[in-house]
Amino acid sequence: MVKLPENVLAHGRTRNIMRETFEYGNKRKAQVGSDKVYDYSLGNPSVAPPRSVNDTVRDILSGELSDSIHAYTSAQGAYDNRKRLADSLQRRFGGNVSPDDLYFTVGAAAALTITFKALTVPDDEFILLAPFFSEYEVFLQNAGAKAVICQPDYKDFMPDFEAIEKAININTKGIVINSPNNPSGVVYDGAVIARLSELLRKKSEEIGHPIFLINDEPYREIVFDGKRAPWVPDFYDNTIVCYSYSKSLSIPGERIGYIYVPERVCGHDDVYAAVCGAGRMLGFVNAPSLFQKVVSICDGQTADMSVYERNRDLLYNSLVEMGFDCIRPGGTFYLLMKSPIENATEFCLSARKYDLLIVPTDSFRCPGYVRIAFCVETKTIENSLPLFAKLAADYNLG
Ligand code: PLP
Repeated sequence: MVKLPENVLAHGRTRNIMRETFEYGNKRKAQVGSDKVYDYSLGNPSVAPPRSVNDTVRDILSGELSDSIHAYTSAQGAYDNRKRLADSLQRRFGGNVSPDDLYFTVGAAAALTITFKALTVPDDEFILLAPFFSEYEVFLQNAGAKAVICQPDYKDFMPDFEAIEKAININTKGIVINSPNNPSGVVYDGAVIARLSELLRKKSEEIGHPIFLINDEPYREIVFDGKRAPWVPDFYDNTIVCYSYSKSLSIPGERIGYIYVPERVCGHDDVYAAVCGAGRMLGFVNAPSLFQKVVSICDGQTADMSVYERNRDLLYNSLVEMGFDCIRPGGTFYLLMKSPIENATEFCLSARKYDLLIVPTDSFRCPGYVRIAFCVETKTIENSLPLFAKLAADYNLG
C-alpha cells in the first residue's frame, strides 16, 4: 500500500474548530430541531443583505449586456468595476484612489493570502497581534513566512506596544492588524493607530526597509456606540487594506473583497504588480465577475446591522450579570468570554450539554477564552440565556 509523505498527511490534519463546531451543530439540529440548538460558532451574518444587492443582481442579469457578465475579467478585476470602486472609496475616505490601486479578490481570505504571498521572501516575518483570526497562521505558512505572535495587554485587549517593538527585527516584513477585531470585538481608536504608525515609522527607519501594515478589516462598518473605525491609510503610508463585503453586505458565500494598495505605499507600482503576480501564482484567475460589479455599485451601503448592537447589549449585560468575565465588544459580532476553567475546550464541550455551541480561542492564540458569535436572531439569544445561566451555575459563578 502507498503511504503518503508525512507533510501531505499533515495537510489533512489541519483543524478549524469553528467549522467543526458548526458541522456538529448541523447534525444536532437534525436530531433535536434547529430551534433547540444555539449555534454561536461561525461569523455567518444573520441579517439579510440590503435590498440594493438583489436589485442590482437582477438589473445586471436582465440588462442588455447580461451575457458578458459571466466572462473572464482582467485578473485584477474589470476596469469599470475598479473605477467605480475607486470613485466610491475616494468619496468616502478622501485621498486619491485610482483603479490601479485596487485588486478584486475572493473575499478577505484571498486578499490576505495574496498579500502575504506578494510580499514574502525567505526568512520574512509578519507580526500577528493576538487574539487574531486563526487562518492568518495557515495563510502565512502557505506564503513561506514566519508568524511572530505578540500577546495583547490583557486588561483591555489593546496592542502591547513594548512587545511589538521587541518583536521587530531585520526580517520583519509586516504586521497584521484586524480592527474591529475577531474574536475580541475590540476597536482601535485613532490614538492607537497613530501610536502604532509612529512605532512602525521609527522601526522601519532603524531596520532600513518598510514595515507594511496589513489592515484586515472585514468588520470596518460594524462599530457600535455611534463610533467609526479610523481609516488607517491616513495614518501610515505603507498600509495595505484587505477588505471583504462578506460582513458589511451579508454576502459571505459570494466570496468578494479587494486589496487596496494606496498610492503612497513605498514602491507602489511594484507592490501592486507583486499582488497581481501572487494572485496568478495562487490560481485565482479573477474574482467572481458578477459580484465585482455588484459591490462596485453597492460599495458604502450596508445591511441593517442595528441588530448586532442590540444583541451585543443583551448578551454582554446578561452574561456579566450571571458572573461571566467578558470583554465588551465595541464592534463586530463576537464576544470574548473568559473560560471559568483553564481548559477552554473542556468548557465549550461542557456547554454542549445545553446545546450552547461556542468555540475556544486557543487557535486565535488566546487560550483560556471562548468566542461567542452573536450574529444570530435576538430571539435565539433570549432563548439561550436561561441555559447560559445553568452553565454559570455549574461553575458556581455569580
Ligand atoms: N479576516 C477576519 C478577521 C475574519 O473574521 C474573516 C472571516 O470571518 C476573514 C478575514 C475572511 O473573510 P472572507 O469571508 O471575506 O474571506
